[in-house]
Amino acid sequence: MSGRSARRERPLEFREYHTPTNGIFFIARRRLLKARTPFQKIEVFETDSFGRVLVLDGLVQTTENDEFFYHEMLVHPALIAHPNPRRVLIIGGGDGGTLREVLRYPVEKAQLIEIDAAVVSAARKYFPSLSSSFLDPRAEVFIADGNTFIRQSDERFDVILVDSSDPVGPATVLHQKDFYGHLKDRLEPGGIIAAQSGSVFFQRSQLRKKAAFLGQLFRFARFYFGPVPAYPGGWWCYEFLSDRVDPVRPIRRQPPAGLKYYNLEIHRACFARPGIFDPFSERGRR
Ligand code: SAM
Repeated sequence: MSGRSARRERPLEFREYHTPTNGIFFIARRRLLKARTPFQKIEVFETDSFGRVLVLDGLVQTTENDEFFYHEMLVHPALIAHPNPRRVLIIGGGDGGTLREVLRYPVEKAQLIEIDAAVVSAARKYFPSLSSSFLDPRAEVFIADGNTFIRQSDERFDVILVDSSDPVGPATVLHQKDFYGHLKDRLEPGGIIAAQSGSVFFQRSQLRKKAAFLGQLFRFARFYFGPVPAYPGGWWCYEFLSDRVDPVRPIRRQPPAGLKYYNLEIHRACFARPGIFDPFSERGRR
């Protein structure tokens, strides 16, 4: 070693605060991207524990090593419960992971509405295992505000998936009653909506509010749960919404091959309601 000790690169520490006194941090090898778009700040980190990490406005969106937990649980309960999903709409999801899981089914068309083109480009450059889905001929990716799209569109879909960021910035409207009312208008009869809903541990008051209005809009407004290691609390909540399909009804079809987390046992278990989750949120129970 030369007389001077090799200049040690200062480790790059990324911190996401879940409350003022706790959160998650990564010691990143390097930051591959730092950009500000008209909508948000985008960063991509290279880390040992989670692989590449996409961060928007300081919040972890997806990581290479744990994204399958989230994308499989957002997509498969709805796609497997629908008897014949042909046309699917994704709101958000600009990293391509949700789209990849949808395309495992023989759908005719999967339409993705992402507000920020820079997220799609970052996914194309840094997350090929997610964004390769954009190359599928059945995929249509539009850069637009999902809230505006569902108000102006007259198209209908068998399944709608809301893969939005948390209720900050452009995603705030995607967690409100008005948005869900318009989403419902875009469903084919017997259609299903699934959405990411947040952290049961840190966002219970938001979830209670959401459960109240979702229960007024849909006959079956069921919350379900699954692990996402890099997300606040490591345990995530999703919504399954439908007027015809009860998600806890036995599933007669096999899920696609090659999944890492979701299977029919997980499907049955994920709708079980833990004690801390108040019964009023479970409509559609006989
Ligand atoms: N899995 C992540 C999570 O649970 O936080 C979400 C990932 S995905 C990257 C979230 C995407 O929603 C972002 O790319 C963001 O730009 C997009 N988004 C936010 N508000 C939107 C809106 N109003 N219309 C369309 N896309 C939106």
